[in-house]
Amino acid sequence: MTAGLAPTGDAQVVTFGCRLNAAQSQAIREEASQDLAGAVVFNTCAVTAEAVRQARQAIRKARREQPEARLIVTGCAAQIDPAMFAAMSEVDLVVGNARAADAFAIAGARVRVSDIMSEGAAAPKVSGLAGRSRAYVAIQNGCDHRCTFCVIPFGRGNSRSQPAHTIIDQARDLAARGHREVVLTGVDLTSWGADMDGSPTLGDLVGQILSEVPDLPRLRLSSIDAAEIDDALMAHIADAPRLMPHLHLSVQSGDDLILKRMKRRHSRADALELIATVRRARPDAAFGADLIAGFPTETEAAFENSVAFVEEAGLAFLHVFPYSPRPGTPAARMPQHPAELIHARARRLRAAGDAALARHLERRVGGQITALVEKPGHARAEDFTEVAFEGEAAPGGLIAGVVAGHDGRRALLGAWRPA
Ligand code: SF4
Repeated sequence: MTAGLAPTGDAQVVTFGCRLNAAQSQAIREEASQDLAGAVVFNTCAVTAEAVRQARQAIRKARREQPEARLIVTGCAAQIDPAMFAAMSEVDLVVGNARAADAFAIAGARVRVSDIMSEGAAAPKVSGLAGRSRAYVAIQNGCDHRCTFCVIPFGRGNSRSQPAHTIIDQARDLAARGHREVVLTGVDLTSWGADMDGSPTLGDLVGQILSEVPDLPRLRLSSIDAAEIDDALMAHIADAPRLMPHLHLSVQSGDDLILKRMKRRHSRADALELIATVRRARPDAAFGADLIAGFPTETEAAFENSVAFVEEAGLAFLHVFPYSPRPGTPAARMPQHPAELIHARARRLRAAGDAALARHLERRVGGQITALVEKPGHARAEDFTEVAFEGEAAPGGLIAGVVAGHDGRRALLGAWRPA
């Protein structure tokens, strides 16, 4: 969650969840400001019960702190369960993810949520995320898959792609405005183009951006599915230094039976093979992954397969999600593990992730790094390694130097120079 709740005239948008939500919050700030004077907008997430709890807590806190403010709830949790927010006396307006131009207008119904599956619009067009060293460009929205634990398709609808020319215009504009790195984001990135004439691929789009926006030093992909990488993308990974050598994969489990029960489209071996293929093509690549701990029916042996996957894949970064039953999903109807076991497994998986990160950082010691400064003393390397450095460097700038050591979480840069 971001943004303190100081009362101002401008729209305050409180963002929960993913980078796509961050991009949509920026679009709300830019597009609807006239209707949002003195309002607080909560752009919610529905991926876990905890995300929904945090939004409700923030709404109650805002009402206490700003008794006169107009409190508006939107985002995936509002789209999926508008009645829950409408039942909160603190809330003035509930708006779904399929937002009409006047969605936040003062006059009108208190609940404005339509069928997201008939939504045609792809993603918001934003002019960069203010104050951030890197900018997110949403290229796609929604998802056509139906993993058994996931509510995202019910919050965002089916997959829709942003036209290539719109994406390229945004990237060009962001580069011209001084952004040194653009991150392509969405819900299911690898499905970009599947709903377009000629079915262009994510690799085609990456190639277009790299050739048509030569002034952009760094292009990064946010999370992608471990099921597939198209040939064009693999070629760019191999030969385009401006495409960052970092892939964050949505793997979810290291056990084939659990992957089947999740209705994932890849096996354990597929994910390992994909990583090995990319590593052969781009030896400096680093990999992150999302793994769920405690999925229903996950045995101790199946869980151990996920733990072992972390080291076998040579991961550097790990996002661990304690399984959270989401209403209406098939997995929520399966026999559930007790919460203590789910959280105990999440702790063990995180420990495996910490060990993997330490191994990755150890491999980086003595190596050359170019990093994007995110805030004073803190930067991010091309392979997404966090970097700590001494001295003054402006956020958004690039620095280069040799890794002198690490603290288990970050690489410690020795002497450095602007890059
Ligand atoms: S691919 Fe699966 S996990 Fe990812 S958004 Fe779609 S349904 Fe959810």
